[in-house]
Amino acid sequence: MRDDNCIFCKIANGDIPAATIYEDEDFRVILDLGPATKGHALILPKNHFKDICEADAETAGKLFPLAAKIGAAMMKGPGADGFNVVQNNGSCAGQTVFHLHVHVIPRYEGGTEIVTWKPGKADAEELARTARIIKEAL
Ligand code: AMP
Ligand code: ZN
Repeated sequence: MRDDNCIFCKIANGDIPAATIYEDEDFRVILDLGPATKGHALILPKNHFKDICEADAETAGKLFPLAAKIGAAMMKGPGADGFNVVQNNGSCAGQTVFHLHVHVIPRYEGGTEIVTWKPGKADAEELARTARIIKEAL
C-alpha cells in the first residue's frame, strides 16, 4: 500500500535517503529536516495512510509503544529530560505531509516552549452539549 507521489512513502521504503534511527518491517524512524529540538524524530509507517483515521488497528496499535521506545532513547542518548509525542491530522491541525507520521520531540530543561496552548473556558452545560455531539458521532 504505497502512494508513488508521496515523499514519506519514498523515505519510509528507502527510495530517498534520510537520517534513520530505527527501522523494522512496518516502520522507519527518521530525524526531521526542520527539527523543533535536537533529535526531533518522525515515525513513518511503511504503508501509506493519509492520517490516523485511515490506519489499520494493527499499525495504529504499534505507534505508541514505538514512540515510547524512541522517547526513552532520546533521554538516554542525547540526554533529553522529557519528550512530546505529537500527531497532526488535517491542515487546520498543522499537518503538512499527508502520510501518517508521529513526531517524537525531545525536550530539554530550560528549552523554548513548544506544543502549548492557551486554556479556554467552558461551563458544565457547554461541556455536556459538546460531549453529547461527539458521543453521537462515535
Ligand atoms: P506535519 O506538519 O505534522 O505534517 O509534519 C511534517 C514534518 O515533516 C515537518 O516537521 C517537516 O519538517 C518534516 N519533513 C518534511 N519533509 C521532510 C523530509 N524530506 N525529511 C525529513 N523531514 C521532513
Ligand atoms: Zn505515503
